[in-house]
Amino acid sequence: MTTLLINSPQSENHLTPPGHPEQVARYAAVQAGLKGLDLLHRDAPLAEDADILRAHPARYLAKVRAASPVAGWAQLDGDTYLSPGSVAAALHAVGGACAAVDAVLSGEVSNAFLAARPPGHHAESETAMGFCIFGTVSIAALRALNHHTLSRIAVVDFDVHHGNGTQDLLWNQPRALFCSSHQMPLYPGTGSASEIGAHGQILNVPLSEHTGSGPMREAYESLIFPRIAAWKPDLILISAGFDAHQADPLAGLDWQTEDYAWLTHRLCDLADSHCAGRVVSCLEGGYDLPALTASVNAHVGVLQERGR
Ligand SMILES: [Zn+2]
Repeated sequence: MTTLLINSPQSENHLTPPGHPEQVARYAAVQAGLKGLDLLHRDAPLAEDADILRAHPARYLAKVRAASPVAGWAQLDGDTYLSPGSVAAALHAVGGACAAVDAVLSGEVSNAFLAARPPGHHAESETAMGFCIFGTVSIAALRALNHHTLSRIAVVDFDVHHGNGTQDLLWNQPRALFCSSHQMPLYPGTGSASEIGAHGQILNVPLSEHTGSGPMREAYESLIFPRIAAWKPDLILISAGFDAHQADPLAGLDWQTEDYAWLTHRLCDLADSHCAGRVVSCLEGGYDLPALTASVNAHVGVLQERGR
């Protein structure tokens, strides 16, 4: 068993208003996709403030904590809500991502998947948005760079929405390559190819609506994979959103379940070539529940197969 699954049971305490796509039922759908896989299980710990403070200023962390409601909902932006259990859920998602980095970098496991909500890739330095409160994958990346002192890491974001938060948090990080594929035009509106980061270390690959399997794979093969290979990362982190799936109600990229298996295999190939297979994958979006179950099964099934 060399693939670690970090579950955050606190995910079930992060409630959103009725009809909200980032719903609590997503967690059960993800768990259904993990059923039957041979994984080492662990629960997500609470994040250390020091890890969060690498990405967000203390005043933002204090603001989020202060906004936590006693009952009902508090709203951080037009579509980002806090229920009484949300801050703890977000803090466990971050703690889980950091624990996944620690386990992979210690050599205890070769790869890891974090099953936690809320997602994180839209959260900017001082702005919660797009269902996201803290920049979970960026915080994990900064822990790998600054606590574990890796030379270079790569973050790959295949969620259908641009990871504007990850881009914001890693914009000035010369040792962090950020590659994102996403539908454009679509929320949040950022992610054009001209956005390249302060050190030219950001690669945005916008895809038009109905870019199906073939052109998607071509874009990865011609743009994203060569860039990761040239970067020679010591660790690959994945923002694993499954809302590019054809069945997803929020977007229209028309990817198939098998595309997630293919993409995961190819990212594991790169990890095998450059960093002893080290991959940490964190759940982001995915709003059609059956497609989420199937896509998580495909993605984590490959991680398990490729774990050494
Ligand atoms: Zn998304």
